[in-house]
Amino acid sequence: MTSTSCNRCRAATEIIVVNFADGEAGPLRIRLKEFPLRACVERHHQFVRPDFAVELLRHLTEEDEPQLPAGEEKGLIMKKYLCESCGEALEPKPDHRHTFSIEVSLVDLDPFGVDLSMPVYKCSTCDKEQLHSLKEVRRLTPAAMAHAFEAANIPPPPGAI
Ligand SMILES: [Zn+2]
Ligand SMILES: [Zn+2]
Repeated sequence: MTSTSCNRCRAATEIIVVNFADGEAGPLRIRLKEFPLRACVERHHQFVRPDFAVELLRHLTEEDEPQLPAGEEKGLIMKKYLCESCGEALEPKPDHRHTFSIEVSLVDLDPFGVDLSMPVYKCSTCDKEQLHSLKEVRRLTPAAMAHAFEAANIPPPPGAI
């Protein structure tokens, strides 16, 4: 069995592009758009390559999410969130939900889109909108991504996420 044969029925697979798949975890919603996977004639789905989920998770949490506007988390028990621009407190209640659209390029694959939707909070002083904290988004990303893969009928490979 090679990495391109179906991991359930061992038939040959081909790469198909899925229009979109959604997943959420807590306040985070993820939409994977026009991303590739492998499908056999029986329509069993699997990752385009074994490390795809790990590569995507790493890309999102280490390269893309750190570029989103996000406050700074302070305090262990009573958490406070400070504006990344001026350092004043963010409003405690979210202003609205914002969708951040990201283009992800993984080695040897065509770029595809990932939408991250999260509540954004306004700074009470300078009005800049931002996430409460990057830590929170990064913590929720693995579960939201796993649910998007479930929505695309890709069973998680053992121990991947
Ligand atoms: Zn199959
Ligand atoms: Zn501010």
